[in-house]
Amino acid sequence: ESFASAAFPHILEENLRRMKYSKPTPIQKNAIPIAVEGRDIMACAQTGSGKTAAFLVPSIKKLLEEKKPILRKPEGIQYAYPLMEPRVLVLTPTRELAIQVHKDAARFSFESGLNTFCMYGGEKWGIQKSRLRRIRRVDILVATPGRLIDVLSMGNCHLMNVKTLILDEADRMLENGFEEQIRTILEEYFMPDSDVRQTLMFSATFPTQIQRLACDFMRDYVFITV
Ligand code: AMP
Repeated sequence: ESFASAAFPHILEENLRRMKYSKPTPIQKNAIPIAVEGRDIMACAQTGSGKTAAFLVPSIKKLLEEKKPILRKPEGIQYAYPLMEPRVLVLTPTRELAIQVHKDAARFSFESGLNTFCMYGGEKWGIQKSRLRRIRRVDILVATPGRLIDVLSMGNCHLMNVKTLILDEADRMLENGFEEQIRTILEEYFMPDSDVRQTLMFSATFPTQIQRLACDFMRDYVFITV
């Protein structure tokens, strides 16, 4: 079986072909159809399993199929420019993973009209901000939690339009002490509730802390392990 059978928008199919993704890996085969249905997912998958495409492909399909997105703004808040209003948000534990995931997001959405942006700690916000100025609108944002909170609190981003939230390598995010930050991001910056947005969580392990995070921030999720 091939990727094409899942009825993807033409450009996504084309990009998958360009990247030589002909046959889905087990995590992709299991997770993509469920994500396409709009369900929340808690997936246990290692690096190298193809997990990145398992969450990016359905997210990009959903973005491309949303005809004329109407972007909403929280009221009574002062924003700074440039302003990001992402519809897909991917959180990663490290700068390296953010860069890797963003690279894949850019390839999957190549020539699709979707814009992607990546930001992380360890590089001056000023540098990332000038990169952001060249982008008219950010559809897919890949970020590490600390930098995202800084940018949210400066008013350069709000999360009211997030329809798909992805936590990649969630167990490593907790190891890096990001649990409080994740809760802040999900609760304090107008992120739509778990019954409105879709949440996809990926983690190599499934300890109590991750189970708690899954219970608190997902709705009726499907557990997938490969
Ligand atoms: P990941 O687990 O997402 O980091 O992916 C591991 C590697 O496998 C990456 O280099 C991907 O580009 C590649 N990959 C993922 N899925 C496929 C696929 N279905 N066909 C070919 N290569 C893939």
